[in-house]
Amino acid sequence: MTIKDYDVANPPSPEDWLAMDEGARIEAVREAHERTRSPTGQNAIAHATIHVIVESRLAEGHTAVVSAYDRFRAAGIDRHTTIHALASVVTRHIMAVLEQQAAFDQDAADRDFETLDPAAFRRKR
Ligand SMILES: [Zn+2]
Repeated sequence: MTIKDYDVANPPSPEDWLAMDEGARIEAVREAHERTRSPTGQNAIAHATIHVIVESRLAEGHTAVVSAYDRFRAAGIDRHTTIHALASVVTRHIMAVLEQQAAFDQDAADRDFETLDPAAFRRKR
């Protein structure tokens, strides 16, 4: 898989995704946003990095992330919005690590993935 093959709208093959190094994954996501003119906020690299964390958890089959993803997709939420919804949990927990100098609380993050509500993200659109 090359950087140009990645499309946020379609899941990459887990093997191909995990075979790319972290820098290539970030570049693939950044490039895909540029290609589709998708908004990234003030920092395209930061946006892509959070995407990559979610995409890698999906590729690794992390249970809480995969089940939240499946729930959103079954509720008719498009893939990019679904990734952003999952990224909102990742971002919140990374902020807690930065602000409280605590370790990343995977159990708390998993609970947040499990309770993430597709309806909340549909309403924003
Ligand atoms: Zn995005």
